[in-house]
Amino acid sequence: MSASSRENTLTVAPDSGLNEALVRGFQVRLQAELKNLSHEDQALRQQLASDEVATEHAVVDGAEGALSVEANLEVITQIQHERQEMDAIQAALDRIAAGEYGLCTECGAPIGQPRLDIVPEASHCIDCQEAAERHPGH
Ligand SMILES: [Zn+2]
Repeated sequence: MSASSRENTLTVAPDSGLNEALVRGFQVRLQAELKNLSHEDQALRQQLASDEVATEHAVVDGAEGALSVEANLEVITQIQHERQEMDAIQAALDRIAAGEYGLCTECGAPIGQPRLDIVPEASHCIDCQEAAERHPGH
């Protein structure tokens, strides 16, 4: 799949209840959000680097053991949270590219436009999301 064909054609999952215009709208939002987060991520990393206590390696691979400075834990927690969000957004963009956006990755049911309006990176329908929250780790 070439980059140009990916930009010009967009497959919408037939059961998603979405249309191409809606999916394009979500795609734009997700891309903007990803850009924002990666800027924030860089800013936070610079903040850490300027404190000269954390290497990039320590931030990614496990903050708790590697660092003892409490003030930085907050920043690291923030970075980890943002990385999770970036992963979720990237996964949603991948599902758009694959023509699977808007379907629950767990049960295949439509996630629904109202939910996607609030959480465009949502990968689960509300039922599966709630089930996952009741049984973390599933
Ligand atoms: Zn589901």
